[in-house]
Amino acid sequence: KRERGGVPLSAEEKRPINKKSIRQLAGVFKYVLPYKGVFMVGLLCLALSSGTMLAFPYMAGQLLDVASGKSNPYFSSINEVALALIGILFFQGIFSFTRVYTFSLVSEKSLADLRKSVYQKIIWLPTTFFDSRRVGELMSRITSDVGTLAEMLSFTLAEMMRQVLTLVLGTLVIFYLTPKLTGFMLLTFPFLVILALFFGKYIRGLSKKTQDKLADANVVVEESLQSISVVKSFTNEAFEINRYTRALNEVVSVAIRTARFRGLFISFVIFALFGGIVAVGWYGASLVQNNAISVGELFSFVLYTSFIGASIAGLGDIYTQLQRCIGASERLLEILDEKDEAEAGLPAQPLKLHGEIEFENVSFSYPTRQDFRVLKNLDFKIEPGEKIALIGQSGSGKSTIINLLMRFYGVKEGSIKVDGNDIDQFHLTAYRKNIGIVPQEVILFGGTIQENIAYGKPGATFDEIREAARKANALEFVESFPEKFETVVGERGVKLSGGQRQRIAIARAILKDPAILILDEATSSLDAHAEVLVQEALEKLMEGRTSIIIAHRLSTIKKVDRIFVIKEGTLAEVGSHAELTRINNGNGIYSNLLKLQLQ
Ligand code: ADP
Repeated sequence: KRERGGVPLSAEEKRPINKKSIRQLAGVFKYVLPYKGVFMVGLLCLALSSGTMLAFPYMAGQLLDVASGKSNPYFSSINEVALALIGILFFQGIFSFTRVYTFSLVSEKSLADLRKSVYQKIIWLPTTFFDSRRVGELMSRITSDVGTLAEMLSFTLAEMMRQVLTLVLGTLVIFYLTPKLTGFMLLTFPFLVILALFFGKYIRGLSKKTQDKLADANVVVEESLQSISVVKSFTNEAFEINRYTRALNEVVSVAIRTARFRGLFISFVIFALFGGIVAVGWYGASLVQNNAISVGELFSFVLYTSFIGASIAGLGDIYTQLQRCIGASERLLEILDEKDEAEAGLPAQPLKLHGEIEFENVSFSYPTRQDFRVLKNLDFKIEPGEKIALIGQSGSGKSTIINLLMRFYGVKEGSIKVDGNDIDQFHLTAYRKNIGIVPQEVILFGGTIQENIAYGKPGATFDEIREAARKANALEFVESFPEKFETVVGERGVKLSGGQRQRIAIARAILKDPAILILDEATSSLDAHAEVLVQEALEKLMEGRTSIIIAHRLSTIKKVDRIFVIKEGTLAEVGSHAELTRINNGNGIYSNLLKLQLQ
């Protein structure tokens, strides 16, 4: 089975254009509705400019007929005809300007709305969604898929309507003006249409393949750049370059095939079209010779056919573009149809918890690994304000306990209660506001220190932020920067040390003021001075809050009320440091872990 970026192609993505896909394309059009007035103006101008242009070949023919002395009810001199032609061009200019302007306006505005909807949707999706997607893939939904649709709204769609109008109206006009010649010309049509359908179908498959290959290649860049330190520490730069080169080669080979067929398609259409024009021109000339039509009429006819021919060639191209758009809108709607996290985005009643936590017989498997039980019958209770350390080997399930408490994943077996209520019953956002996390790896967003601390409480005043920084032992180092709280950190700014980042995270948590606090101790140790500052700040932060610490250091473990020893997803030992060291005469799991650490 073919896969893209590790995610199986959905049935949707393999489907050719049909009623359903057109309905889906229409689903994206929902975003145009708020701007329908402006859009209608654009449509009107489109119809007017196409219509006006259709008068052009007729008038050009008149120019010849008036010059050769054929009597005419409307025009007595070629100057008048030329003036009328200029008038046509003038109106055409006004209509075209308005059309391009209004369509671009609608497309930019409605697609900004669409982008926002998709982003809003994605950011509210539950953690489980992100387990099976890559960031790069989601990015390309928002950037290139929406970009494809932007092109459709501002250009492709208008072109399509313009060309359909030209095709239909133009044919009607020449049928009326020169029926014999037109009948003759129509003989070439079926051939062209069949050719266009055949090629269009094939090219659509190829361009989809190119896009898929490009997505694969982008995944390589994104993966390696996101974990650049891993790449460098393994000195695998050359390996990654190779991997990317291979992916690019595949893109190029498919793209070249696409280009070959696209070129073939266009050239065939042009050849057939001009071949047809030669044949029709010959027949037309013979009609002129026999005085069946005038030179002006033949000239008009030739101009009309070249208009019509161009619109047919253009429609073939537009058909393939439309198919790309359908692919893009399918992928976007697929995301928009994802199930939200409970009550996503709904306003929450303020919720103030005390922080009593109870796991009742909780067992858990990750949705992506159903057959593997990560937690088994966990049963414990933590009192409000109690300090707990979770210890256990890596992979034993400590972070999973936190993931469940955070409601990143739903519990199906057993239940988790906070303050005596099942956590699923709380409004998700309101509930999470009661939990603060100081993570192992502190992520700072691009922005100032002040903004980064305020992430814990959007809208916090400067005094609150400064006070939080002070309590987090961060004030001194922040004020040592020339720009103090305005110092820019993150990717483009000052690099902060591990200890400094942690204190920023602590300040964030202080601002958030949660009842429940989760500390994921950094495994890499800080220097002694930084360690003291961070520890001090943490202790202040933990005061009066239910705290769960994923602990790696003895110093932390000794200070907590109880230690939970997690082993293979079960609670193997519980108790204070003193109690646990007495288990099995100093040979319990905890004692052995301690000995291992001391070694
Ligand atoms: P710890 O925090 O004690 O190191 P974790 O709770 O992170 O352990 O992991 C427990 C087990 O669950 C491990 O076997 C790990 O591979 C697995 N696991 C963790 N996160 C996920 C996830 N998102 N999807 C699938 N399996 C996971």
